[in-house]
Amino acid sequence: MQTRITEMLGIKHPVVQGGMQWVGLAGLASAVSNAGGLGIITGLTQPTPEDLVKEIALCREMTDKPFAVNLTILPTIKPVPYEEYAQAIVDSGIKIVETAGRNPEPFLPLFKGAGITVIHKCTSIRHSLKAERIGCDMVSVDGFECAGHPGEDDVTNMILLPLAARRLKIPFLASGGLGDGRGLAAALAMGADGVNMGTRFMATKEAPIHEKVKQKMVEASELDTSLIYRTLSNTARVFKNNVADQVLEIEAKPGATKFEDIQALVAGVKGRELFESGDLDNGIWSAGMVVGLIDDIPSCEELITRIVEEADTIINKRLGKMASA
Ligand code: NAD
Repeated sequence: MQTRITEMLGIKHPVVQGGMQWVGLAGLASAVSNAGGLGIITGLTQPTPEDLVKEIALCREMTDKPFAVNLTILPTIKPVPYEEYAQAIVDSGIKIVETAGRNPEPFLPLFKGAGITVIHKCTSIRHSLKAERIGCDMVSVDGFECAGHPGEDDVTNMILLPLAARRLKIPFLASGGLGDGRGLAAALAMGADGVNMGTRFMATKEAPIHEKVKQKMVEASELDTSLIYRTLSNTARVFKNNVADQVLEIEAKPGATKFEDIQALVAGVKGRELFESGDLDNGIWSAGMVVGLIDDIPSCEELITRIVEEADTIINKRLGKMASA
């Protein structure tokens, strides 16, 4: 499949791996890139900018294909030296960056000056238009189905994607709820030039998380996610577990929620431990509604090949037959 996105990113298939905290390491990113998609190293998963430089170098040893780095700017427990991470990305010679969370404008002169293609992740049309206006090369339009932070508008991809197609001039990826060939075909039909999948790549052989987490995702249905931090206007969709339930109970108490009241439960480090140990109630972990569509743990190569073949068959056979001659 050739789209504006495969051409601009120099990749074979229009499939991009989402930037996932604790999951986007060199092993997964290189596996996705070697399979013809675009792998993404998650910048903030590395404890320091120096560690990020090393992870990028490791990824280069594992693939000669293009890969990207994600830089997410959202509230964090410890202050993050974003400028130093951005500089590490540039100094490492990375040519594709995915920004997320906040307006990436302050970083654009640095990135564009280094010839970097910037993909900004947006959860609304107004943010997508702003990203286009300030010079981002493409956006990743993230529907309400998505894992992690869906924003506060709650608009699903059935509406967001056609709106993006009507209003944007730059190409866009569909993100949120994507996990199979039907999703890819639908996203292309709605105007996207490719898909961004996070949760689906967590249930792959190469994802650096405990087998129990992957198995739990295979068993889960589309009803197994919770929206936390609504009361803090920093909504996040996470896997529904005891910790998410406890957070929701605290948020449901009368009066304003204070982040300090939930901090110990939600700290990212607890989620990292959960991914390492397989103790599914150790903390919270981001997961999208697409868990309802996950029923196996393939390699990235098997997954991407299958998704592209399925989409191709749907477009050429099913839809092709329906179209009038
Ligand atoms: P962390 O340990 O610093 O914080 C844990 C969670 O609490 C994060 O979701 C964070 O956004 C939230 N948080 C922190 N301070 C807050 C505050 N004052 N008010 C409201 N919410 C607050 O974060 P981490 O797990 O180490 O992750 C690092 C960064 O990556 C965070 O910005 C996080 O939001 C982001 N992240 C993004 C996704 C995604 O969907 N793209 C998924 C996981 C993490």
